[in-house]
Amino acid sequence: MKLVFELSRPGRGMDVLPACDVPEHALDERWLRAAAPALPEVAEVDLDRHYHELSKEAFGVCDGFYPLGSCTMKYNPRVNEEAAALPGFAHIHPTQPESTVQGALEVIHTAGALLGEITGMDAVTVQPAAGAHGEFTGMLLIKAYHESRGDTARTKVIVPDSAHGTNPATATMVGFETVNVPSNADGGVDLDALREAVGPDTAGLMLTNPNTLGIFDPNILAITRIVHEAGGLCYYDGANLNPVMGIARPGDMGFDCVHLNLHKTFSTPHGGGGPGAAAVGCKALLAPFLPGPTVEQTEDGTYRFAQPEQSIGRVKAFYGNFGVVVRALAYVLALGREGIPEAARAAVLNANYLMKKLEGAYHMAYPGPCMHEFVIDVGPLKERTGASALDVAKRLLDFGVHPPTMYFPLIVHEALMVEPTETESRETLDEAAAAFLRVYDEACEDGERLHGAPFTKRIGRPDETAAARTPIVRWTPEA
Ligand SMILES: *Cc1c(COP(=O)(O)O)cnc(C)c1O
Repeated sequence: MKLVFELSRPGRGMDVLPACDVPEHALDERWLRAAAPALPEVAEVDLDRHYHELSKEAFGVCDGFYPLGSCTMKYNPRVNEEAAALPGFAHIHPTQPESTVQGALEVIHTAGALLGEITGMDAVTVQPAAGAHGEFTGMLLIKAYHESRGDTARTKVIVPDSAHGTNPATATMVGFETVNVPSNADGGVDLDALREAVGPDTAGLMLTNPNTLGIFDPNILAITRIVHEAGGLCYYDGANLNPVMGIARPGDMGFDCVHLNLHKTFSTPHGGGGPGAAAVGCKALLAPFLPGPTVEQTEDGTYRFAQPEQSIGRVKAFYGNFGVVVRALAYVLALGREGIPEAARAAVLNANYLMKKLEGAYHMAYPGPCMHEFVIDVGPLKERTGASALDVAKRLLDFGVHPPTMYFPLIVHEALMVEPTETESRETLDEAAAAFLRVYDEACEDGERLHGAPFTKRIGRPDETAAARTPIVRWTPEA
């Protein structure tokens, strides 16, 4: 496929702007560039075809089954896009007076209240722009809490080895030292190791639940008790609330703070790089430290911005990615008290259904039942046939299945993490299972052949390290 720059022909274009009807002013010489910018010159139809062609190179939820573990690539109802695009939401300005944006303030306030109810928390901010940003915000609250009490010896944060990778990264960025605790044979936190790890230097614990093995820790109440008894606070990484929402609440499990990825569970399309949002909920003891402004309702029923007394400050310009909050509210209101737990149960059912269909062939890292996702360990298959997790993932592309998350969690060396989500039908799950099983059979017949997969894609195996570390995102004209 050609770059749009290669399609360019001098003088071609689509300049149909009306004639200038305001006085022209010449700019001072020093603001002018010496040469015209090397912008592509193409006709509108060619530009349209170019981008359409490009879009076909990407795989989205609307192209097929997308079981990307931990990412919850579920179908997001289109009607929520319409809600977010309503002129009263999309065309307002962040510096408008409060009295002219009462509806928008009500959205932020109501979304916070409902997400607080879903998580069992007393206060919520929707300012953070993503999950990791929500963790960062939440851990700043915990840090501010200890500091406000003069409890400065608490410098360590405990992170189990089954945590999402952002958890230790967050703890480090906030200035804590991370202490790793291992998992036990069932994939949960090793309680003895946790008891040994806590002490007067414990600021808190960050727990991903369900963890990256797709397991809801059965000892969760014991975990929060152990940390609290040592004087630490408990942070719940709720990025994957999908199998839990409406059924169990982090606040009831003893957690002091939680974040939710609105762009996973609550109906914002993602995968192309944003915008997302995290809702961060906290118990009353952390609420004075929340980023400002928050929204509160006054006695006469109107809404206004407020500044928490000991706020950690802003974490994002203005009020966060507001459109994401509109979608989340529309989604929560549409599903309601009955629909939310039903979606969660279906997510768990779908994952267990697919896991059962595959476990006769593939080796599961941990026996079920799982929550919303499960982890295949391709290690035994690789040993027998030479076909790795990467080979299996690449071959699935030829059957129209987006690969599962690969080589994550790190504690399973040849991991494929599969999350079907609740929005897939039984037929789709059956077709996907057939594709997984066919790839398994192919590996058993000739594992070496799969090193060449995918066989039907324009780009098969890019150098992912170079693409991430030294990406070339700029086109330079030939001299
Ligand atoms: C996705 C995810 C995150 C990070 O969320 P981002 O929006 O990508 O920053 C954190 N924790 C868990 C468990 C996740 O699945």
